Amino acid sequence: MARNLLGFDARALTDFFCEIGEKSFRSRQLLRWIHQSGTPDFEQMTDLSRALRAKLADCAAVEIPHRVSASEAPDGTRKWLLSVGDGNAIETVFMPEVNRGTLCVSSQVGCALECAFCATGRQGFNRNLTTAEIIGQLWWATRTLSLEPDAARLGRDNEPDGARLGRGNVERPVSNVVMMGMGEPLTNFDNVVRAMRIMLDDNAYGLSRRKVTLSTAGIVPAIDRLREECPVALAVSLHAPNDALRDELVPINKKYPLRQLLAACQRYVDPLLGDDIPDVKWERKGAPRDFVTFEYIMLDNVNDSVQQARELVALTRDVPGKFNLIPFNSFSDSGFQRSPARRVRAFQEVLINAGLVATVRRTRGDDIDGACGQLAGRVRDGAAGGPIAIPKVAKG
Ligand code: SAH
Repeated sequence: MARNLLGFDARALTDFFCEIGEKSFRSRQLLRWIHQSGTPDFEQMTDLSRALRAKLADCAAVEIPHRVSASEAPDGTRKWLLSVGDGNAIETVFMPEVNRGTLCVSSQVGCALECAFCATGRQGFNRNLTTAEIIGQLWWATRTLSLEPDAARLGRDNEPDGARLGRGNVERPVSNVVMMGMGEPLTNFDNVVRAMRIMLDDNAYGLSRRKVTLSTAGIVPAIDRLREECPVALAVSLHAPNDALRDELVPINKKYPLRQLLAACQRYVDPLLGDDIPDVKWERKGAPRDFVTFEYIMLDNVNDSVQQARELVALTRDVPGKFNLIPFNSFSDSGFQRSPARRVRAFQEVLINAGLVATVRRTRGDDIDGACGQLAGRVRDGAAGGPIAIPKVAKG
């Protein structure tokens, strides 16, 4: 079967060219053609010899996931549904803002973690996405948005006309990536890391490690592995100030309780620990930021009291973190309500008064079901119907 070079990072491409008897610098050329020019057709790669193009067409291909649909919300948020075969589809969401454009990328078809408040978790788990399917989301967004530059620029609510000048993001409409779509990225570690390496590669998307954020529900051993293999910005879905409540909301907590999780966060951002990392060639070893972003979903009368805010302050005292409070996005039969704004403010004030940074996430795209926790795609639950087994979530 032809190999799909869309999912090959620089290392994999170098190995591939070596295997077929070609020079390793071909890897750079291929990355540029595929990801910067957006050319999946070897015939159009004009700086490769005719013979090499024919050879590539013989043993490889660049297969882009098929786009099923596209929608756009009044606030400019875009959502794309990409087919990943067998009747499954995944969602990717793009959020344009004044100074940046953020793409929310999925890592799995469905999710096995079953967090109580998450629509994706309700659908069950089907399978991990391949590296090609993960980077394919960024490929699509970049292609689509660079063909219609206004899409990346407009849709920014209430923006004065003058603010549009000098923005200069037309060449790179996607300036930030968050691994916060469907799935738990750290239970699909190898494919996610390979995709992130392509995101960071100057011959591909050239994003800095600060601008790629991986969000996890807390797979502790994999957080340590990430620190060693591809330290990008880290976000952790905390959602509760103690184990009893977190066990209910984020069941993976039973396996990796808060004490272990917070210790892993501390290791992640510790610059001294960064020095012992052998194989990271980037400008600075260790984490690209000196804090972890703690995500905390605001569920009415569940985890949003002032008392719980105080408990949260005490819990996270030793970890450099910033809080992002997320208004709950509802979906049918969720069983939860969004906290009223005044409770969110009171909660936020406790954190701020304790000297912490705490922001409230602006909800985007909920009119196209593109907001956090609403991404549903089309998932055939492997556990419920098909022959696909749920893999063990612990990895690394
Ligand atoms: N599995 C990863 C990444 C996917 S979820 C993780 O757990 O971090 C991305 C973020 O959206 C997480 O913080 C998640 O807890 C949050 N989220 C999930 N469902 C939500 C909902 N219904 N409303 C608001 N945020 C939600």
